[in-house]
Amino acid sequence: MTRIAFIGLGNMGGGMAANQAKDGRAVSAFDLSAAALEKAAAAGCTPAGSVAEAVRDAEVVITMLPAGPHVRSVYAEQVFPNARPGALLIDCSTIDVESARAVAAQAREHGFRFADAPVSGGTAAAVAGTLAFMVGCDEADFAEIEQAIGPMARVVFRAGDHGAGQAAKICNNMVLGISMIGVCEALALAEKLGLDPVKFHEISSQSSGQCWSLTSYCPWPGPVPAAPSNRGYEGGFATAMMLKDLKLAQEAAARSGAATPLGATAEGLYALFDRLGGGGKDFSAILEMLRGRSVA
Ligand code: NAD
Repeated sequence: MTRIAFIGLGNMGGGMAANQAKDGRAVSAFDLSAAALEKAAAAGCTPAGSVAEAVRDAEVVITMLPAGPHVRSVYAEQVFPNARPGALLIDCSTIDVESARAVAAQAREHGFRFADAPVSGGTAAAVAGTLAFMVGCDEADFAEIEQAIGPMARVVFRAGDHGAGQAAKICNNMVLGISMIGVCEALALAEKLGLDPVKFHEISSQSSGQCWSLTSYCPWPGPVPAAPSNRGYEGGFATAMMLKDLKLAQEAAARSGAATPLGATAEGLYALFDRLGGGGKDFSAILEMLRGRSVA
């Protein structure tokens, strides 16, 4: 039986760790939150008292933490000194490319194999085990990484070497942030012009405006029943998380010299929506701001 250590059992990690246990793997789990740890235990994981305890006997260590600083410190201070020699280390958090490359280099110095493997799909896909993974790793390690990720995944891509998984993730989410704002602006304009937004959705879904934000995640309530717009924009992918990813894209653009003017505008609009109180709402709720409605 594969022995997995799972660190970070929040909105995403909780469901992902549960799917590893459901697949029959021995999952030693740790989170700073006692409530998250209890939930993981109920889902078949074995709660550990610390990161050190969780990773000690694991063949594969998986982390799902909030941001780059958490990942850097958990690996440097707790994983590297305590993990089994030769363990496979997989970080699924969304973080900056530099942190991913720095942790990969440190892992190599300590004799570990490492992958950055951020995900797309949100909390529903984390629970269902249908996430898309974008992996940056040594080519020789990919088959084993794919096998380790299997119970949590619908599809696994090797994006390239270390850092490429994070690069793919922040580029993808920049497209998503921009396209969501575009769809929201069009829906708000349709409304002002006296065109039924639901009719516009039907027409544009079959025309050249078609995109994921419109047809799979429609911000206007009604046309896509599973979308957060039908539940008061609760759950889903929080605006604060989208803002974090758009900031990562802008930092990466500044460092690499890429021109991303629409990404910068999207970041500004999401920052404004966050300041207006929308940070905890699903990111498609930015429609309300663009319609001139109150958010909180
Ligand atoms: P979350 O805040 O719900 O979970 C993070 C967990 O990490 C928390 O339970 C926290 O207690 C734990 N943690 C923090 N520091 C720790 C430490 N030192 N040791 C052990 N546990 C620690 O966040 P989330 O929504 O699960 O997101 C996790 C990552 O996944 C983020 O990088 C996010 O950008 C990315 N992501 C989220 C979504 C989404 O829809 N929520 C989708 C794709 C990717």
